[in-house]
Amino acid sequence: MTVSRTTAPDPFDDVAVLCERLKLPEIARLAASRAQQAAAEHWTYSQYLADILQAEATARQTRYVVSHTPMAHLPFHKTLDQFDFAFQPSLDERHVRQLLTLQWVDAAENLIVLGPPGVGKTHLIVAMAVQAIAQRIPVYFITIQDLVADLRKAWEDNRFATRLGLYLRPRLLCIDEVGYLPLNTHEANLFFRLVSARYERGSLALTSNKGFVDGGHVLGDPVLATAILDRWVHHSTILNIRGDSYRLREKRRAGMLGEAAARPPLTQEGAPR
Ligand code: ADP
Ligand code: MG
Repeated sequence: MTVSRTTAPDPFDDVAVLCERLKLPEIARLAASRAQQAAAEHWTYSQYLADILQAEATARQTRYVVSHTPMAHLPFHKTLDQFDFAFQPSLDERHVRQLLTLQWVDAAENLIVLGPPGVGKTHLIVAMAVQAIAQRIPVYFITIQDLVADLRKAWEDNRFATRLGLYLRPRLLCIDEVGYLPLNTHEANLFFRLVSARYERGSLALTSNKGFVDGGHVLGDPVLATAILDRWVHHSTILNIRGDSYRLREKRRAGMLGEAAARPPLTQEGAPR
């Protein structure tokens, strides 16, 4: 009697084909090695199944975040875990962590972060944006200078409505550095149209170094400013940071500043980043 010497087909060949058809690349990659591990460590079938499905879900999430983060145009990548709350006692950590659930974005509400330069305003809205990307919420980040320049150009080129439509798309629009440079009436008007169009339809996260009292100065036109601020403040959470500049602390630590510069007038810190 002759014994057939052909080797048994490898079931993981079928797994690979099926995973390709079902677009499950991580399972295709891990199925065989995790099966070995499962056998060695006496996992149940359901543990094995949960393990490879979890690996696929994690890889898929990572792919999403990696491909969508550049689209958000963040100025840097920081999370709330990198924020030192001990340095900024005027901020209620629990409240800020609650904001990171992004329920306010679900409700199309706004977040306004106020404070002098270097206190972490941009850091905080970047952290919200990073979390939004992880939750698959469309996000776009822009400084008000770039935003207004873009809207002005679109106005001149007669394609304002189309351009405005682009800024209505992200469910979270982060606008940084409101108030560093005053807007003229035309610019304030364009910005007002954007704020109006997004009102109760999508969230804004704004940073500003100005209090709302001088909104008229910031936004060029007191009447328009009042209209804009009405919309901002309605359905908004305001975080008012009253602490010291973190940037200056870092420099101080590096020995780049003397003690005399420890608490300079805030206006002397220089241009915003
Ligand atoms: P602002 O926008 O208020 O001018 P930034 O958010 O740009 O300040 O902060 C300046 C730098 O200091 C950034 O690198 C930021 O990550 C860091 N930073 C600010 N505050 C904190 C903090 N409390 N903990 C950790 N890093 C901070
Ligand atoms: Mg900033």
